Amino acid sequence: MPAIAKVEPLVTARALRGPFDYALTEEMGDVGVGTVLRVPFGRRRLLGVVVEMAEESDVPADRLASPIEALEAGVPPELVRLGLWVAREWCSTPSRGLGLVLPPGMGAGGQRVRAQSEFRAELTTLGLEAAAGDGSVPGGGRKLGIRQRATLRALAEGPRTATELRSDAGVEAATLRKLAERGLLGLEKVERRRMPGEETAGAASPRVELNPAQRAALGEVVDAMDEGGQLLLHGVTGSGKTEIYLAAAEEALRRGRGVIVLVPEIALTPQTVGRFRGRLGDTVAVLHSALSVGARYDEWRRLRSGEARVCVGPRSAVFAPVADLGLLVIDEEHDSSYKQESDPRYDARAVARHRAREAGAVLVAGTATPRPESWGELHHLELPERVDGQGMPPVELVDTRGPQTGPIHSRTTEALGEVAREGGKAIVMINRRGWTPYIACRSCGEALECPNCDVSLVLHQYNRPLLGQPATGGPRPELRCHHCAHVEAMPDECPKCGSVSLARVGTGTEHVAEELTELLAPTPVFRLDADAAIGSGSHAKILGEFEAADSAVLVGTQMVAKGHDFPEVTLAVVLDADATLHFPDFRAEERTFALITQLAGRSGRSRKGGRVLVQTRSPEAPSVSAAVSHDAAGFLAGELERREALRYPPFSHLIEVGLSSPDVAALDAAAEGLREAIALHLAPGVEMLGPAPQFRVRGRERRRLLIKAPLGARTATVDAVREAVEQAAGERRLAGVALAVDVDPQ
Ligand code: ADP
Ligand code: ZN
Ligand code: ZN
Repeated sequence: MPAIAKVEPLVTARALRGPFDYALTEEMGDVGVGTVLRVPFGRRRLLGVVVEMAEESDVPADRLASPIEALEAGVPPELVRLGLWVAREWCSTPSRGLGLVLPPGMGAGGQRVRAQSEFRAELTTLGLEAAAGDGSVPGGGRKLGIRQRATLRALAEGPRTATELRSDAGVEAATLRKLAERGLLGLEKVERRRMPGEETAGAASPRVELNPAQRAALGEVVDAMDEGGQLLLHGVTGSGKTEIYLAAAEEALRRGRGVIVLVPEIALTPQTVGRFRGRLGDTVAVLHSALSVGARYDEWRRLRSGEARVCVGPRSAVFAPVADLGLLVIDEEHDSSYKQESDPRYDARAVARHRAREAGAVLVAGTATPRPESWGELHHLELPERVDGQGMPPVELVDTRGPQTGPIHSRTTEALGEVAREGGKAIVMINRRGWTPYIACRSCGEALECPNCDVSLVLHQYNRPLLGQPATGGPRPELRCHHCAHVEAMPDECPKCGSVSLARVGTGTEHVAEELTELLAPTPVFRLDADAAIGSGSHAKILGEFEAADSAVLVGTQMVAKGHDFPEVTLAVVLDADATLHFPDFRAEERTFALITQLAGRSGRSRKGGRVLVQTRSPEAPSVSAAVSHDAAGFLAGELERREALRYPPFSHLIEVGLSSPDVAALDAAAEGLREAIALHLAPGVEMLGPAPQFRVRGRERRRLLIKAPLGARTATVDAVREAVEQAAGERRLAGVALAVDVDPQ
């Protein structure tokens, strides 16, 4: 065995960069790439991951330390490589990259969870005889007590674990020990598995016969499994994509290969997870953050040992220890939750494509609204129709230019009233939470802003999740900042001039829900947004109540366009398509098209048909008109052309360097210094913009540098930025200035 382990220490500091050499001793046992070691480091002890093995070291033997111990769980070597790759691609540190692939509960702080064990009891021959008898023990001794006899009877059918015996028959550990001492049963130590919760329990979904379009798509997926192809499965909600994933997963398992299925937030998609568990059984492991760390650790180890071969989970599941990967599915691949918004700011879709390529697995990205990036790069598979034969519902535009009397147009009101009268269901989306996003004084024009951030405060009237239920505490008007934790009471008068005339400009989910509650009474109106869904399970609770109601309206942010399937919805409304459309971002058109199309997918799933209303002041915008005609291909072609002309992704890579500090002078000096440092390292043809001021957040001023790299120059550019950033991080000038690098920001 090579005697030197090269170890990357798990630390948060950017400056400390391994790997460092350690000499392995005989008693360390099996150490290889991926082993997690506790090592001495200066006067500290650190955890570190072995990233390479070597025969010799450049460090003199008398200065080489040896590891203290190897931890119970290690990481497969291919995941070590993946973690380091992510660190490099997204301009992070090796330690943070490796943090992504470690077993749950392990990190810079150490290992907080371990496997749990317990006893499994099995009757001996003597025990079997005693279980059948009247309480006397063959061969003599004291008569058995009632509890002891009950225990033996419970075990007569076969071995049981202590946990099972306790929950099914109330058996105490002491009783087991006593019976074992008398030779009536044997106790064996086994691992105790902490189970993922019931919210994703498998629903027995009937096996279906695939239709011709599904069979054709499945055929291509299976063919590509050998070559590691990358496919885009384009089909509206209900076109049968999930059935293809399931069939492809079964095929992968038949070939002895593993499967990873990525889904957006689990809270919104428990049905998908349930379908996999229902169809494939215990070989499915679920990894997500709502599980206890113990359960996640056990699920991780089931995958690591090969006991489970399929992992379903959100973006972090792309790092699941699945061996011999044959299939990697990204469901709803347009979903923004695939991008991590903290360091390492990786995009699970790009990681998935890399991992699938390295593993020789087929990648299937499924969506009703492909991103231009994927549309341009992946081979398309089309599912042109819904399985149930229902067409897509007609999308009608409601032009809101001209005089208007509130957020809901009279045509929309009429349509909603009709649904309520007929006892149906509707979904209304307004992508803004709270009551009013902007409050200004009518006399002096003063806007109410957050003291810590340069943004207006949002009025929140309600503290309760569900309308149509008793309010807890009643309305309590409050002004909240959506960028920091600032909250203040809604003032009665203008803080500047004392006028009592405060204008409420614009509208959010609370206001719409309230208005519709009055308008549509007694039809219940439910609200779903980040405020309404605080605490785990309440998303599901709100959606469950909407589903269970005979007739109801669901109002919410874009959350209402995701996940859950509601067959009875016959009307879907987008109240303010312009909010998304006029957002200053080159992805605004793409997002608008996706939101309208996703919402359209929520309507008209039953025989009753359905319709979609889109309120907008920009009916001629390409995203809006393409959504009306359900023309994804046309929209994407136009969007790709526009992006190419402007050299936006996917025709370039963007790298954003954000700086922030409470001290403006220090910030400006740092930003200018960093710009110069980066410019020194950049290759010709790479553009850099800024430093541009951004609005202040949490009392910190912000600046941004934006780097636009041509295709093919991504890695070199990221390396250049990293070099400049790391150099700068050690400089005095940067004290108090925080730096964040985002590669391919969303
Ligand atoms: P998607 O993932 O595209 O939304 P699903 O695979 O969930 O579509 O299919 C929608 C519904 O139609 C599900 O209830 C599914 O069980 C059913 N389904 C899918 N394919 C078929 C088929 N070939 N025959 C009958 N029912 C099907
Ligand atoms: Zn005023
Ligand atoms: Zn704030």
